[in-house]
Amino acid sequence: MTDEKLTPLTAVQEYIANYFDDCGIENGANLSRYIISEVLGMSYAKALLKKPMLKLWECDKIDDACNRVAQGEPVQYVFGTAPFRYLELEVTPDVLIPRPETEMMVDIVAYYLKKNNIEWPLLADIGTGSGALAVSFATEFDESIVYATDVSKKALVVAMRNAKRYDQLENIYFEQCSCLDNFEYFQHSRNHFNAIVSNPPYVPTDVCKKLPREVRDHEPMLALDGGQDGLDVYREILKSTRGMLEPGGLYLFELHETCLDLAKRIAIEAGLKDVSIIKDLAGKDRFLAAID
Ligand code: GLN
Repeated sequence: MTDEKLTPLTAVQEYIANYFDDCGIENGANLSRYIISEVLGMSYAKALLKKPMLKLWECDKIDDACNRVAQGEPVQYVFGTAPFRYLELEVTPDVLIPRPETEMMVDIVAYYLKKNNIEWPLLADIGTGSGALAVSFATEFDESIVYATDVSKKALVVAMRNAKRYDQLENIYFEQCSCLDNFEYFQHSRNHFNAIVSNPPYVPTDVCKKLPREVRDHEPMLALDGGQDGLDVYREILKSTRGMLEPGGLYLFELHETCLDLAKRIAIEAGLKDVSIIKDLAGKDRFLAAID
């Protein structure tokens, strides 16, 4: 990159485009937008309008980000943030980067709460990771209380920071455990949930080995590997949380697209009602919803 003190945005864009081209990176245009807007602290559209001259340190930061991304590091870890619905969440390699398809889970829960006129929902988010679902529930559903758990202490630290970021520490109870192990000690006036929600590790072990390098080498396997058929943690959650929902309460899981039929059979065998498979926006089987 040029040594001059100020560099026009157009030159920077050209530099990034050539650099990513040379490295054979496929979605270079999107990455370039992401990097520019993060470093300049403004939306890409605004940067295009303002056409700022970039300072040397900004160019250096962009250069560093491009190098790291070219080495396979997810751009969200490079900057330590990822968008999820209305939120800008902190992410570290201790948590899975929230995926856009997961956003739909909040809409499904919102629909369920509205349809059933539930005004003060008590919700559980098992395997909260960055806290994406828990913080969304707490910010989007008035008067809700969320009980969020994760096996990873390091993930919970990130989730708590995200709750703090949105001033929700009072509405979300965090607990380090594999499912809802300590819920019975939870000091709350109600002891049954309106919904138990989870985006558990669900990638079948064989598929994990074939995940893209940036996922395999950087994101926590603990949050991805769901065992041989991808349903190990799903089974464990179903088994250990039975009886914790209000009658008519909702179970909602995000699962791997190849596992939904088997997951449905397991849910029916477990005696759940209205078991349904919901597709994500890409048209793939993605969610399992059931009523207890
Ligand atoms: N959707 C993620 C992926 O395919 C997996 C998330 C999970 O296992 N919970 O990379």
